[in-house]
Amino acid sequence: VAYKEQIEKTDKKIGSYLYLNENIVKEAREIDKKRLKGEDTGILGGIPVGIKDNMCTIDMPTTCASKMMDEYMSPFDATVVKRLKDEGALLLGKLNLDEFAMGGSTENSYFQKTKNPHDLTRVPGGSSGGSASSVAAHQAILSLGSDTGGSIRQPASFCGVVGIKPTYGTVSRNGLIAFASSLDQIGPMGRTVEDVAIGLDVISGYDSKDATSFKFEKPDYLSEMKKDIKGLKIGLPRAFFEEGINDEVKEAILKAAKNYEKMGAIVEEVEIENIKNALPAYYIISSAEASSNLARFDSVQYGYRTDEYSTLEELYKKSRSEGFGKEVKRRILLGTYALSSGYYDAYYKKALQIRRLIKDSYDKIFKTYDVILSPVAPTTAYKIGEKKSDPTEAYMGDIYTVPVNIAGLPALSMNCGFDSNSLPIGMQLIGKAFGEDKILRAAYSYEQ
Ligand code: GLN
Repeated sequence: VAYKEQIEKTDKKIGSYLYLNENIVKEAREIDKKRLKGEDTGILGGIPVGIKDNMCTIDMPTTCASKMMDEYMSPFDATVVKRLKDEGALLLGKLNLDEFAMGGSTENSYFQKTKNPHDLTRVPGGSSGGSASSVAAHQAILSLGSDTGGSIRQPASFCGVVGIKPTYGTVSRNGLIAFASSLDQIGPMGRTVEDVAIGLDVISGYDSKDATSFKFEKPDYLSEMKKDIKGLKIGLPRAFFEEGINDEVKEAILKAAKNYEKMGAIVEEVEIENIKNALPAYYIISSAEASSNLARFDSVQYGYRTDEYSTLEELYKKSRSEGFGKEVKRRILLGTYALSSGYYDAYYKKALQIRRLIKDSYDKIFKTYDVILSPVAPTTAYKIGEKKSDPTEAYMGDIYTVPVNIAGLPALSMNCGFDSNSLPIGMQLIGKAFGEDKILRAAYSYEQ
């Protein structure tokens, strides 16, 4: 009830939510009743959680912040949503995002702009902007975001909260509306490392409904997290501090590295080979997959449909032209181009080769190091409208986050200071595949 009131009080200004669960009070009372009777209410019994609006919910619309989805009502809950409900979580509502999760500022939402709770003239980051702002503004204890190239970590950094992008395959994508299937991962966002660890524990694990889900032995995140970090080997990628990074961000990360040394970790500079090619490879691979994934929105089976048309082709053309926003169309065009027969070898195939090389570079580093410490984004939260006119400038902001998705690795973003405008600065802790326990440990000890 307190969270509902907080949303009612603050969300006109912040704009985190696209839809509010009307039954929340009733559902909360039911949990209370159960508790009074001494019944088990689950690990998250009564905890209010917000869901990024690209995950399917049976009792609330799912829009992907797109006109194309046209108040789509899913006939099922995404696996992650079901797992939250099974553990007693209360779903507060659906959170704003960049249309189809394409972007880094939440300005690409068809419906509304979300503001950064630390400064309402600035973006919350994206694409999971609503997931980050809701947690930062006490409009949810926990939220779910999705991360294809940084969409959990960068908004967490801009809003000063914690977010983890798990290893590819550890959290089910069943019911997540796909952007780029080989890169997408769902993860939790919260105010503390412990909250995020609990959220991860609830949503992760094998799911037969997702063909890319792994069967793996899940560590006990909560007890692993509390272990000492003495002797933990941390790598600091030199190339990330050379150019394009804001001085205050750089200083904050280097200070964090010093703090880790004081805490008994061993910090050394490392080189991630081929890292400079990660950003172009990401935009080719993600757009290629998006162009294919978004082909299903034909306005026939579901989705927005134009009013007037005389042929089937016109129906497709007009509906898709009117239903998708500018950034989504840009990605579809880019992806279709990269996949077209004349250019496939030059772009898509090259990008896949780069992907392999980058994965190998990380594997090499993780033979010696436990965790990589890096910035999340080159800057802190920027002004609304500042990067709207130049998409490549916005794409450059993803330079430290996309390599992690390309390699399928887990990475956590958390606050490590503030700049001179009192805006949060985030640091990123990257682990080897299935190494969530170690990055949670490094994050938890930093927070103490
Ligand atoms: N900003 C990146 C992009 O626009 C990442 C998006 C994401 O992770 N969903 O593609």
